[in-house]
Amino acid sequence: MINQFIASQLDQWEMARNNYAALSGVRVKEIDLNGIRYKVQWNPARIVSSGAKVDAKAISQRKCFLCATNRPEVQEGIAWGGHYDILVNPFPIFPRHLTIPEKEHLPQRIKERIGDMMQLAAELPDFTLFYNGPKCGASAPDHAHFQAGNRGFMPIEEQCKSLQGTLLDREGTATLTLLDERPRTTLLLRTKQLDEGITLFQRLYDRLPQQADDSEPMMNVLALYDEAEGWNLCIFPRRKHRPDCYYAEGSERLLSSPASVDLGGVFILPIEEDFNKINATLLESILKEVCLPHEQALKLKN
Ligand SMILES: [Zn+2]
Repeated sequence: MINQFIASQLDQWEMARNNYAALSGVRVKEIDLNGIRYKVQWNPARIVSSGAKVDAKAISQRKCFLCATNRPEVQEGIAWGGHYDILVNPFPIFPRHLTIPEKEHLPQRIKERIGDMMQLAAELPDFTLFYNGPKCGASAPDHAHFQAGNRGFMPIEEQCKSLQGTLLDREGTATLTLLDERPRTTLLLRTKQLDEGITLFQRLYDRLPQQADDSEPMMNVLALYDEAEGWNLCIFPRRKHRPDCYYAEGSERLLSSPASVDLGGVFILPIEEDFNKINATLLESILKEVCLPHEQALKLKN
């Protein structure tokens, strides 16, 4: 149903069709960082998101593009769960890329919506669901939404199943593990029971550090579901929205605004020069800056 919906939207919507067609021309390179494989994608169309002004003033002055009344007429939606719409994302990173906003204009928060996200992941097993916190890459921090991209795109989907780690917490059969990799800090929540997964996630949420002027602990979340394994949630606790190089001048500048997909192992760079320049050293320094330090995550065990 979703695949037919995407095909029909691309048939009717020229701008989206052109942006999906342009995806086949994006350049990709691979970087090995401490034995972990990352991909980098040069994707000029994503300047819309990477360059987005998301401060309170800019947000209050623009029309919310996720509210139904402001969407282009050609954009259709599939109602889900009574209060969400499944939409085609017209500025794709993935060959199949969805945006799933709440029907109402409510702020981006995860704590009470993690169960919705997990249920969506279970109903869309060909997709990885993702959540960008209001200061962690969401270009609409004022309107609650998830995104979904087709499986098989982000290296972490497979890496998370084989990496070892330290068990931090459990709830029934659900487990929360800090994966043994650096400088990315990845918490893996595995569960076959929805309710146990929700309880474990919400307990983690209540214990993650929250900065004084923030509305929730900074994080990105990926959710994948397989019938045999149940849910795998990759939670990336953050300490910074954008790295210093994002704001630097001249040759020091590198327009990287890391969100779920970047932490999932596909760094999206809209500027060609940045794509040519990025290497393991630069990638490592960006991850060190934006991720909650590993040592701090380890303390959650106590
Ligand atoms: Zn809105």
